[in-house]
Amino acid sequence: MPDGATTQEAILHDYPRLSLDDTLHFHCFKGVDCFTRCCRDVSIVLTPYDVLRMKRALRLGSTEFLEKYTLLGCTKDKLLPVVLLKMDSTDRRCPFVTDEGCSVYAHRPWACRMYPLGLAEPMGSHPAERGFYFVIHEDLCHGHGRGPECSIREWILSQSIDTFEMMGESFRDLMMNEFWEKGEPLESRKLEMYLMACYDLDRFRRFVFETRFTEIFDVDEARLDAIRTDDEELMVFAMEWLRFSLFNEKTMKLRKSVMDSLEQADHASGIASETPR
Ligand code: SF4
Ligand code: SF4
Repeated sequence: MPDGATTQEAILHDYPRLSLDDTLHFHCFKGVDCFTRCCRDVSIVLTPYDVLRMKRALRLGSTEFLEKYTLLGCTKDKLLPVVLLKMDSTDRRCPFVTDEGCSVYAHRPWACRMYPLGLAEPMGSHPAERGFYFVIHEDLCHGHGRGPECSIREWILSQSIDTFEMMGESFRDLMMNEFWEKGEPLESRKLEMYLMACYDLDRFRRFVFETRFTEIFDVDEARLDAIRTDDEELMVFAMEWLRFSLFNEKTMKLRKSVMDSLEQADHASGIASETPR
């Protein structure tokens, strides 16, 4: 899989832009001579939904999964933190690859499902724009030109990529925000919030239910009931909270008592600034 940061320019300018009706001629199977070669020495960026699926499949808490299987990195411009699947420190193999293939196949990350398909989404593009698909050709992979041709749409359905894209929508909105283009890197407290809300959902749930969170934010009871037990609901809620906290979007409602005290504080600071010294 190509390094997204180093090839981004080439992809945007040189790669054929594929639509859902274009075709892909590719087949990956156990007998192919390159079997599992792509599961070694590779940078796999994990989405929040990838982490959720894998930690659940492995029956691990999110904190434990992150500690054991991931590394923290950042994009080339150093603005956007990213969570990467950690390769073995000696042979650089993915921790989930076996002679039989991927041991978490049903729950493998979005990037693994997509391969050899890539999705290019220039930063700052309108949320309604989906970018374009392109096909990755690498010498190590011998799956091209094999099996029946299929449309990109059929490939997406056959790999359950549609589910991952649907579940990744709220994270995509967060990542595509112009804040990342214009802003400074997140300062450490906000970075901590970002990582917790995006990836460490068990910790984020404790943050919601075991701190003063619900005394500050007005969240309706039905929503609270849902996020108490449903990880997918919690993930979407976490993205809304981040958009409120990082971008000042009106995605969360403050309780009236909190609003009143904020107004009083504003009023007081107004009086203070008008008071002669
Ligand atoms: S998660 Fe599975 S498919 Fe992805 S690199 Fe690891 S072994 Fe390969
Ligand atoms: S055909 Fe490509 S995707 Fe399949 S195992 Fe070989 S290198 Fe990996």
